[in-house]
Amino acid sequence: MAKKYVYFFGAGKADGNATMKNLLGGKGANLAEMAGHPKLKLPVPPGFTITTEVCTLYYKNNRKYPKELKGQVDAALAGVEKIMRKKFGDPNDPLLVSVRSGARSSMPGMMETVLNVGLTTKTIPGLIRKTNNPRFVYDAYRRLMMMYSDVVMEKAAGIEPKTEHDGIRHKLESALGKVKKAKGYKNDTDLTVEDLTKLCDEFKVIIRNTLKKPFPDDHYEQLWGGISAVFASWMGKRAISYRKIEGLPDHWGTAVNVQSMVFGNTGNNSATGVAFTRNPATGENMFFGEWLPNAQGEDVVAGLRTPNPVNKAGKTADTRHLPSLEEKMPHLYKELHTYEKNLENHYTDMQDIEFTIEDGRLWMLQTRVGKRNGQAAIRMAVEMAKQGLISKETALLRVKPEQIDELLHPSVDPMAEKKAIELAKGLPAGPGGARGRVVFTADDAEAWAKKGEKVILVRNETSPEDVHGMHAAEAILTAKGGMTSHAALVARGWGKCCIVGCSALNISVPKKQISVNSRVIREGEWITLNGTKGRVYEGQLHLLPANPDNNLWYKELMKWADQLRTLKVRTNADSPDDAANARKFGAEGIGLCRTEHMFFGPDRIKAVREMILSETLEGRQKALAKLLPFQKRDFLGIFKAMAGLPVTVRLLDPPLHEFLPHTDKELRDLARDMKVPFDQLDAKNKSLHEFNPMLGHRGCRLGVTYPEIYAMQAQAIMEAACELSKKKVKVIPEIMIPLVGHVKELEAMKKVVVATAKDVQKKYNAKVTYTVGTMIELPRACVTSHEIAPVADFYSFGTNDLTQTVYGLSRDDAGRFLPFYVENKILDDDPFITIDQDGVGAFMKIAVEKGRKVKKDLKLGICGEHGGEPKSVEFCHNIGLNYVSCSPFRVPIARFAAAQAAIKGRQGKKKK
Ligand code: PEP
Ligand code: MG
Repeated sequence: MAKKYVYFFGAGKADGNATMKNLLGGKGANLAEMAGHPKLKLPVPPGFTITTEVCTLYYKNNRKYPKELKGQVDAALAGVEKIMRKKFGDPNDPLLVSVRSGARSSMPGMMETVLNVGLTTKTIPGLIRKTNNPRFVYDAYRRLMMMYSDVVMEKAAGIEPKTEHDGIRHKLESALGKVKKAKGYKNDTDLTVEDLTKLCDEFKVIIRNTLKKPFPDDHYEQLWGGISAVFASWMGKRAISYRKIEGLPDHWGTAVNVQSMVFGNTGNNSATGVAFTRNPATGENMFFGEWLPNAQGEDVVAGLRTPNPVNKAGKTADTRHLPSLEEKMPHLYKELHTYEKNLENHYTDMQDIEFTIEDGRLWMLQTRVGKRNGQAAIRMAVEMAKQGLISKETALLRVKPEQIDELLHPSVDPMAEKKAIELAKGLPAGPGGARGRVVFTADDAEAWAKKGEKVILVRNETSPEDVHGMHAAEAILTAKGGMTSHAALVARGWGKCCIVGCSALNISVPKKQISVNSRVIREGEWITLNGTKGRVYEGQLHLLPANPDNNLWYKELMKWADQLRTLKVRTNADSPDDAANARKFGAEGIGLCRTEHMFFGPDRIKAVREMILSETLEGRQKALAKLLPFQKRDFLGIFKAMAGLPVTVRLLDPPLHEFLPHTDKELRDLARDMKVPFDQLDAKNKSLHEFNPMLGHRGCRLGVTYPEIYAMQAQAIMEAACELSKKKVKVIPEIMIPLVGHVKELEAMKKVVVATAKDVQKKYNAKVTYTVGTMIELPRACVTSHEIAPVADFYSFGTNDLTQTVYGLSRDDAGRFLPFYVENKILDDDPFITIDQDGVGAFMKIAVEKGRKVKKDLKLGICGEHGGEPKSVEFCHNIGLNYVSCSPFRVPIARFAAAQAAIKGRQGKKKK
């Protein structure tokens, strides 16, 4: 049998279903499910899906289709004609179709759509007779010409001009705008039949003159032109750039959905809308949407007309006066409400649906899992689990770790907001606060952001061409559009602050300025957005750090995460404040306290320099004695903040020259203080220069050559611990030796620490349980882990240095070229951000296996930057680490990622 390339759906039947997303794309699979699933059988306009495989073959075979395709399309089209009792191209009662893209995962607006395909000079008179509505027919015809000439004849043909301004779409829109202006019309709906008929003739002339080809007057040519344009758009600039940002592979391809047209613009008994089964901005369990009477779907999504709320409950103070569908067409609203409930229960997730009402009949055009911001994702997941719709595990897996991060984002300080000058109000499309300098084009947003500027992208409305700038901006502000406009959808997907439909803004892109009331804001001036309330303010307002503690759903979800995870989460902190902050975020101890940061204070650096530059042991000891009280005070603070929890203190690690005087004056001052000749100090200073300091005299190598440094640090740690334990504060010190490559280094350093600890405990007549472990951050340590483990109470993977040494990549220099590697797909991820599991990870596994073989209960953790990165956290869970440690703000994400890893692990085991 010939391979199946075309899947039919309609009239309660479908060849495909929702599980076939890879083959039919998300849209096609869901249309099949809605039309054909026995529990749904919703009124879906009949149609068919051409598979993603055809897209792949199309590109593989030099833009040629498999030969079976035409026959299969004809057969499916005949099926549609039968159900609709109309024929494609029939001069008396023509069937019109839409041609739309649909990839595996939604790419809002990135690819092409052509509507009203099949309108020709042959079919127009018949449709006018049939509908008795010439205005509607000519309006549909001018829309077809606008879309088709832009998408098929210009973009897909590869003759798109450089600037949008010279494009055919812009020329046709200007012609339309001129008519509206001349006649004093406000809306497109004000255009009369005569206006539209004339406009259609004018469009044909503009198209022929601009594109040097006539607009096709054959229905089949239009259909295949549309299909090819959708496939071509998969490799269009916008789609490629979106896939890059979202990390979607090029080889997936898109499907094409050809579907019978239904019209929301045949008169006041018709309408179109977009709705969500729950509020996608807040997560509230309330049917939420927008609709427009007498309009086609693109009018809602493109944000050209500001839509009305779908129901009474969705009205806000700003939209109270607008008519809802619930009030205008109560029966149809009820029907829609039943379908949306069924859909959510069926898919057990929030759905984003599109519908059209044609002459009083409701049609369901699309359903898909709705995009949502972090706040909404968390609330929905928790409420759905409590409702019994999904399990707690599913709830946890449904929220992306980045969405937890979003909740930790700043908001506008209400005190500052009270006094601020409000410029305008708009719709709150993406919550949170943001401030930045105004820019007017996506390219400027990207260029300014690259220079390190914080920018807010201000547009009349955004289009898929703007995605790169939207991504680079702190926030997005548009004058037009509703909550389902392109800007709103894209921003929400990224969890970005966004305000749309801010109609008071008068934006002039050529002049690069906004006039609003009597104010003019020019490019580069600062504004602040409150995306939660939809308010725009002049200047830079104070932003408050996020406060997830006030969010009950977040707290509940994190409670579930903590119940389900097995990996502990600690923090990297070197000060009592950071430690206390991290504890609030749920840290279960300190996994890395870098002691060198404590040496930089103005009161300490002199003593440190004295120690380094001393030629004698006595000299060093004298300097170290000055440092001891400082260090002790630091540890007292940190131990108190972490009372009852383990604190891993790492002894001195960086190359010594990092502390040396940099200027002549500093060196002279020091020589005077130390009472040594300047030349002598200068020579010593120069002698400490290293060619490759990262691989030089650092880490435990310092301790090996100057054991008195580590002895002083161990003394400070143990004195602080003894003092506190006498005051009944529970202290659990873990002393960590850095950069161990050979077991003998660890043995020597452990001896120093143990001897010092013994002395201190004797002096204080106290007993503190402490452990001594090592960082594992060199390949040699990994492969000799069976030798190191017997000497170490614990390991902590220093994956920053381990990545540097396994990969041979300088951690201080690789930033110059690694982004290029990632952009050009030489590497999937920057290995200093996400653990390189195949290389660095393989060394970690060796260390774990060899270490645990000789010491079953060896405690294992990680304290490199990867400890707070979700994919790396999952890897650490999978190789059996006991904990991860990360910066305080990343602790919640790590807790959450650890729970997801545990759930995935359990589900994986069950499957086996
Ligand atoms: C590491 O190398 O991963 C580590 C945590 O230590 P540092 O970054 O201080 O070298
Ligand atoms: Mg290190």
